[in-house]
Amino acid sequence: MIRIFVGALAAGFMLPAGAQHAPHAHGVADLRVAIDGNRLQIELESPLDNLVGFEHAPRDAKQRAALARAEARLRDPGKLFVVPATAGCELKEAAVESPWPQAGKAEHGHDHDHGHDHDGEATHADMHAHYAWECAKPAALKEMGVNLFDAFPRLHQVRVETATPGGQGASVLDKAHRKLEL
Ligand SMILES: [Zn+2]
Repeated sequence: MIRIFVGALAAGFMLPAGAQHAPHAHGVADLRVAIDGNRLQIELESPLDNLVGFEHAPRDAKQRAALARAEARLRDPGKLFVVPATAGCELKEAAVESPWPQAGKAEHGHDHDHGHDHDGEATHADMHAHYAWECAKPAALKEMGVNLFDAFPRLHQVRVETATPGGQGASVLDKAHRKLEL
């Protein structure tokens, strides 16, 4: 049994031999896809800039709305990842981590911004998401469509690491190459 996706997002994944922790680069996101038994898991790590166009605490309603929209899109992986219907996968888990989460904020009536926003300093921020599906026929998981480029036009490249019964691999997707071989 491959133990992955435990603990810190980046540290918990078993990287293919020789792979290094990917640096934060605007326009680029990292995707980790694992098939273990009947479980399909995906982790996405992206600079916030790719998703909303800024990397600081929201300063106005427009930026809060952009964060909320990105969160909502990430919470709906059925639109981001196209898994073969024959695999019979059912979503079991969808979690989004944002440095400035917006979900549920309206009920509080005031902001709880605990982000460390230092104006004038060159800071960066990321958003993480992870998903898990249970699949009736995991053997049918031979490929997967990745629609992140439509949802997030600022995103230009996705670095992918895969861990499947067939082994571990790495590939790069872009707007012209959206199909991931598994
Ligand atoms: Zn950045």
